[in-house]
Amino acid sequence: MTSSSLSPANAAYRTTVLAGDYWAHTIRRGQTFRIVDLEGNQAADTLFLDAANPENRYSASDTIRHQGALYLTTGTQLMSTEGDILLTITADTCGRHDTLGGACSRESNTMRYAHEKEFMHACRDSFIRGAQECGCELGKRDITCNINFFMNVPVTPDGQLTFADGLSAPGKYVELRAERDVICIISNCPQLNNPCNAYNPTPIEVLIWNS
Ligand SMILES: [Zn+2]
Repeated sequence: MTSSSLSPANAAYRTTVLAGDYWAHTIRRGQTFRIVDLEGNQAADTLFLDAANPENRYSASDTIRHQGALYLTTGTQLMSTEGDILLTITADTCGRHDTLGGACSRESNTMRYAHEKEFMHACRDSFIRGAQECGCELGKRDITCNINFFMNVPVTPDGQLTFADGLSAPGKYVELRAERDVICIISNCPQLNNPCNAYNPTPIEVLIWNS
């Protein structure tokens, strides 16, 4: 657990992303980016892509191998598919962020919950909207590994993934320094079928400070 000395009053950018909504933005090298879990136990599904070359994008497997640990927290360097450091986590008051569970989709909703859930809004839909609007002509094929900030997805001793009760709480945040210009697309997860958010998606806040 590491808190930050940055004050929201000095942020260059600040906005609230409503429950189930999405956000796409370019974060410049040297800027610091914070996501706040305003009401607790929300999952902020997040993609990072190199703004100069969006085919160079966040890689969960390279990040896990690079740090020799499964979960993301302060000190984690987010690695790209081409071996570059995209961002570094510089503060974290939640302590546990998942990068194994992936994003919810209409297909996974039918597998996990029930066939008639297919038509419910899911993170992949939000990612596609964000990708279309970020000005880089990104599409479905650009949506690969994501991070689930504030989500607790422990790996059991026999290698299973479980969706556990969240460790986050109102006001917990994670902060990252951009090591190059990156495109960030967040799906503030709209999931209504998963107990880890108490079946109740809630808003997040995003802030950016200049270096
Ligand atoms: Zn989701």
